[in-house]
Amino acid sequence: MKLLQEIVGHKQSVKILNKAISSGRVAHAYLFAGPAGVGKETTAMSFARALLCSHPAGEDACGICRECRQLSSGNHPDFCLVEPAGSSIKIEQVREIQRRVPYRSYQGGRKIFLIRQAEAMTAEAANCILKTLEEPPGDTVFILLSARPQILLPTILSRCQTIYFKAMSVPDLIRGLVNLKGLPEEEARLYAALSGGSMGRALSYASGSLMADRDGANALAGILWHGSPLDAVELAGKASESKHKAVFTLDTLACWYRDLMVWRETGKAGSLFNTDRVDIIKMEAARYDTGRILAIIEDIEATKRKIEVNANTRLALETLFLRLI
Ligand SMILES: [Zn+2]
Repeated sequence: MKLLQEIVGHKQSVKILNKAISSGRVAHAYLFAGPAGVGKETTAMSFARALLCSHPAGEDACGICRECRQLSSGNHPDFCLVEPAGSSIKIEQVREIQRRVPYRSYQGGRKIFLIRQAEAMTAEAANCILKTLEEPPGDTVFILLSARPQILLPTILSRCQTIYFKAMSVPDLIRGLVNLKGLPEEEARLYAALSGGSMGRALSYASGSLMADRDGANALAGILWHGSPLDAVELAGKASESKHKAVFTLDTLACWYRDLMVWRETGKAGSLFNTDRVDIIKMEAARYDTGRILAIIEDIEATKRKIEVNANTRLALETLFLRLI
């Protein structure tokens, strides 16, 4: 588990948290808002540890006291992680929090409730937690995490201090990957470029678990170029196994066409995302003019938006792929 001072990127957010600790003005509820995989939870855990530590070193945890070790090993009795049970956070889970809140902490320090995917609270659960967020006892700190804060109840937003987390910059991601994984910088650059600003996704690329999926999505452009309508329908079927897979495929495909366009316009391999596929990019880029590539990227983005607001995933992909052949 990291110390706050070890968090890569998010300087401004960490500074606000450090200041809250050093001034003794810790809010009773925080909302960490920002895209998935950028480091909200890592930062929240570091913040929680600094708040629970019995021998804090200035604005940060010591990392070695009993409290620090208990939190790192997932055994701190005054730290409670709440996450969706299935697709939502249910009212019973919120009631369980409310039962614990009035009691004093087990170890004499603070009690911390970390709520993952806060936007997944059912309407009932969200209404139920409002009162608790308003006036929790002084030793209680809530940290809500959300990649979609815009769908939280305004009344919840107004009771939390919001800390914003932006997508990470490519240089920060490279630095993080080199530090965390000891990767050569060239390899780290590839994963950072593909990650869309998400350290979580960059790490999945680095572990190899996403590279095959990326290759599959990238290959779609070539297959659709030569393919038949039947191919388009079959490929759409495979890519729409889940909404998550469909969105990943579309993100990756948009990056691929972006690379074709960048190659056409600049001829510079250093500006590509898929720096390990220059030969194929060169070949495929010759098939399109820039206007056509821009239209394709817009079409992909529009399809992604439709899927995100719950259009029929398979139908949306089929119509896109049929337009691309
Ligand atoms: Zn400590």
